[in-house]
Amino acid sequence: MYQVETAYNNYSSGGGHNSHEINIMARTCGCGKWQNRKIPCSHAITVLQYLGQDATTYIDPCYSLENAIRTYSHQFKVPKSESLWKDVDGPKWVPNLALLRGKGLPVKSRIRNEMDGVRRELGGRRPDSDLREIQQK
Ligand SMILES: [Zn+2]
Repeated sequence: MYQVETAYNNYSSGGGHNSHEINIMARTCGCGKWQNRKIPCSHAITVLQYLGQDATTYIDPCYSLENAIRTYSHQFKVPKSESLWKDVDGPKWVPNLALLRGKGLPVKSRIRNEMDGVRRELGGRRPDSDLREIQQK
């Protein structure tokens, strides 16, 4: 069991000056990163360097190239063409027609006033080509 104290650090989110207990045999640290990520945290690396050990040998084998290759080594089944799919016996999903959106732009419920029809551009007032109808009275 080792204890690592971090120095004050204004740039660190926690401000630094924390104390963490490292257990090399159990591969744990008080900060929780080593046991969660299965990669030695900065505190564990400090202790391992102090002990003259290579921290990379403490990286969990789940990150090894051998295991990455093994993950994708099995054969993948390619799905059949959709035309060969069997019909499902269970209940069928039907879209709710009441929830379908109609064609065109959605109807706006906002009440227009005299402010509509002019668009502010760089401090000047210029009529909006789409809304000219409202300006003409
Ligand atoms: Zn740590």
